Amino acid sequence: MKKTDVLIVGTGLAGLFTALNLDESINVVIISKTKIQLSNSVLAQGGIACEYNDDQQLHQAHINDTLKAGSMLNDPESVEFLVEKAHESVKKLISFGVQFDIGDDNLFLVTKEGGHSSRRIFHSGGDATGKNVTGSLIIQLMQKKNIEFMEETMALNLLVDDKEVIGMSCLDRHEQIFPIYAKKVVLATGGIGSVYNSTTNDLLATGDGIGIAYRQDVHISHMEFVQFHPTAFYNENNHSRQRFLITEALRGEGAYLVNVENERFMKKYSPELMELAPRDIVSQAIFKEMYDTWTDHVFLDTRHLDPKYLQSRFPTVFNHLKENGVILGVDLIPVAPCEHFLCGGIDTDLRGRTSLKSLYAVGETANTGVHGANRLASNSLLECLVFAMAASGDIYKNLKDSKPMKEMSIASNDVYNYNYKPIRKKIGDYMDEHVSIVREQSGLQLTIEVIEKILINLEKYPNQTKNYYETLNLASTAYLITKQALERVKSIGCHYRIN
Ligand SMILES: Cc1cc2nc3c(=O)[nH]c(=O)nc-3n(C[C@H](O)[C@H](O)[C@H](O)COP(=O)(O)OP(=O)(O)OC[C@H]3O[C@@H](n4cnc5c(N)ncnc54)[C@H](O)[C@@H]3O)c2cc1C
Repeated sequence: MKKTDVLIVGTGLAGLFTALNLDESINVVIISKTKIQLSNSVLAQGGIACEYNDDQQLHQAHINDTLKAGSMLNDPESVEFLVEKAHESVKKLISFGVQFDIGDDNLFLVTKEGGHSSRRIFHSGGDATGKNVTGSLIIQLMQKKNIEFMEETMALNLLVDDKEVIGMSCLDRHEQIFPIYAKKVVLATGGIGSVYNSTTNDLLATGDGIGIAYRQDVHISHMEFVQFHPTAFYNENNHSRQRFLITEALRGEGAYLVNVENERFMKKYSPELMELAPRDIVSQAIFKEMYDTWTDHVFLDTRHLDPKYLQSRFPTVFNHLKENGVILGVDLIPVAPCEHFLCGGIDTDLRGRTSLKSLYAVGETANTGVHGANRLASNSLLECLVFAMAASGDIYKNLKDSKPMKEMSIASNDVYNYNYKPIRKKIGDYMDEHVSIVREQSGLQLTIEVIEKILINLEKYPNQTKNYYETLNLASTAYLITKQALERVKSIGCHYRIN
């Protein structure tokens, strides 16, 4: 058993930045179900969208781009908040030792990605933004006496007393259940990639925050808006469900898309923005091209760009492709869309508060209203920063109003050996087939029936293992995506219905 002021679940950018912004008088326990350094945040290549200035016209343009990419289904107040707080949050990152790339003129180098009307993406180490940012924050946090990291500790269920969260039941590395009591709990559990059979996410992204919140009837919405990244590396020899991402910033620097017939097809779908149209449009265009040409990939063409520049600007991508026999700037790069980001999630207000008292959600697991029906590129790291800062401020202000610490009994379940792989595969197969880029009513209906049966069975035979809880969370997440996709009859943003 453990007691603390604040429990943060997750060591991605959202969790780390929440912890770092909390006053040092507050005791914080921050848990990760694997190693501290493993998260989707670490994988982020492109960067962080930010107008690093007070120019209201430029701020308004960032707001407009975000709303346009989200098909105006965003919450305008959240979007304004995101953009207005961007400067302050990136400045804070810099004060914590993060080094963004700087040009010969000593000015920040900023790039462009899909849906942005100007160059405003900050990056670090070329395409190693996530690794550099989280690395710097972890170093800072390790020096703080009020912060305790617990690795290989998995959050299972919220402990709730009289409609207020008082802690979390957790599994330790030996799969022993124990409680962590806290005045405030922050879910920063990230994305849902493993719900699908192919994703750019680290496979630890099993929608745990969504599953945990769902079991307590916390409000969750916009789950139907799953973003598929247009350019994951297509490699027949890769048998992992995790696919290597080729950053959109490469298109920002001039790469374009061609189909297997060497046609630059984006002119048919978005003649003005071409390859830099928002992701929903580009992924849907690629899907159509693959269908029409009977293939499962298109190509990213960088052959007209300088290979030396590409190597220095995109070292991570360059090296990965080289290891797989493809040279950036010389060869065509086979790519195809796959699951990348959850635009919706656990509903929060501007301070990260959920519908359940003393429970906060930040980062990709949260639905702050910022993304609407489709996320604008590089707005998600920014969302982690801005809403982590806001949540930590609110926690500080309201810590004294929390219930006095109280212990409660925690039921422990049987532990038995069971292989959940086939269930996970079945969930992935149905989600890929019916709840992917293009959806139709009959497929959604079929999927929800299958997932409902899986959920009933899982609930009937609880098993106190990490594997069981991950599978339960995957099934709950798949259920919510499909249910909300069924409820939204009209196509909008990443949710494309043909009937
Ligand atoms: C390949 C890739 C590239 C990307 N590039 C960009 C980019 O350039 N710009 C941008 O804005 N966005 C980018 N994104 C999206 C962005 O990285 C993520 O949305 C963001 O990092 C999410 O941060 P997070 O802190 O919410 O979650 P994560 O970084 O995923 O962290 C989640 C944490 O929660 C922990 N966790 C989960 N469940 C539990 C549990 N039950 N118990 C304990 N711990 C748990 C995990 O171990 C992990 O520590 C990219 C995503 C990917 C996959």
